[in-house]
Amino acid sequence: KNNAIGFIGLGQMGYNMANNLALKAGRPLIVYDAVKDTLTRFKDQNKDVETASTPAEIADRASTIITMLPASPHVKEVYFGKNGIMEGLHKDSMVIDSSTIDTAVAKEVAAEILKSGSRALDAPVSGGTGGAAAGTLTFMVGANSQEDFDSAKPILEHMGKNIVYCGQNGNGQVAKICNNMLLGVSMIAVAETMQLGIKLGMEPKLLANILNTSSGRCWSSDTYNPCPGVMPTTPASKNYQGGFGNTLMAKDLRLAVNAAQDAHSTVAIGALAAQIYNQVSSTPEYQNLDFSSVFKVTIFGYCH
Ligand code: NAD
Repeated sequence: KNNAIGFIGLGQMGYNMANNLALKAGRPLIVYDAVKDTLTRFKDQNKDVETASTPAEIADRASTIITMLPASPHVKEVYFGKNGIMEGLHKDSMVIDSSTIDTAVAKEVAAEILKSGSRALDAPVSGGTGGAAAGTLTFMVGANSQEDFDSAKPILEHMGKNIVYCGQNGNGQVAKICNNMLLGVSMIAVAETMQLGIKLGMEPKLLANILNTSSGRCWSSDTYNPCPGVMPTTPASKNYQGGFGNTLMAKDLRLAVNAAQDAHSTVAIGALAAQIYNQVSSTPEYQNLDFSSVFKVTIFGYCH
C-alpha cells in the first residue's frame, strides 16, 4: 500500500513543517510548490525527498496529503483547479489542509474529499515559523469524526506539540481565527505600549522585561516583541524579515470580522485591528514584512 506523504506549499511555514516530516516521519515524502526555486532549495536540503510537478501528481502518489497555502483562493485552486488534488485523489487517502482559510471554504473542501471516499481534516496551526521549525506547533483540528482525528494525530505530532480536536470540519478554522484576532489586537497593543514607554524615556529592553513579568504580559510582548533589539531572534530584530506577513494577518482579521458579522457577534476592537492591518498591508513597503512591523507604523500614526 502506498505509504507516501505529499506536501504542497513550502512557504515560511510549510518549508519547516515538511522538513520535520522528512526528518521524523519515516515515510517517503513528495513535495510541490508553485515556485520552482523553493522546490530545488528543499530538495537540496533533503536528498531523499521527491518532487512533483502538480498537486494532482501529489494526490496520485501519496496516501496522506498536507497543504499549507496562503489563503482561500490558493486552496480552491490547488484542490479544485486544473491538475488539482481532486484530479489525482484515490479513495481511502487522508487529506489535511493546514492553511488558515474561510470556514465555509474549509467545509466545502472537506465535503468534496469525503464524497470521494477519503478522510478530510482542516488543521490550521499556531506557533509561528519558530514553532514550525522546532516542531512545536499547535494544530487546531476539524474532522468528521474522532476516528479521523485519531488517524491524523500521529502525523501531526511530527510537526506539532499540541494537537487539539475542535469538532466538525471547519471548527479548526474557527479556533484559529479566534486566536489570530486576539494576536492581531495584542500585537498592535504591544507596539503602541512600547512606543509610548520609549517616547516617555524608558529603555526598551527594560520596559519589555517589566511588561513580561507584569499583568500586561502576552505572546506579542514576551515571545515576539515588535521592538527591534529587545529579543535577538524575532523578525523585529531582523528588519521584520520572515515570520508572519502583514498580508496574512490582514486576511485572518478579515476572516474573523466576516465570521463575527455572520454570527451577530460584536468585535469592536477586532474590527479596528482589521482596519489597521488592512492599511498596513496595502502600503507597498510593508506588504512583505512581518506583522510585528506595525510597531514602525505606530511611530507615525496609522494615517501618515
Ligand atoms: P507563505 O506565503 O510563506 O507560503 C505559501 C506557499 O504556498 C509559498 O511557498 C507559495 O509559493 C505556495 N503556493 C501559493 N500558491 C500555490 C499554488 N497554487 N500551488 C502550490 N503552491 C502554492 O505563507 P506562510 O507564512 O507559510 O503561511 C501559510 C498559511 O499558514 C497561511 O494560511 C497563514 O495564514 C498560516 N500561518 C502562518 C503563520 C506564520 O507565522 N507565517 C503562522 C500560523 C499560520
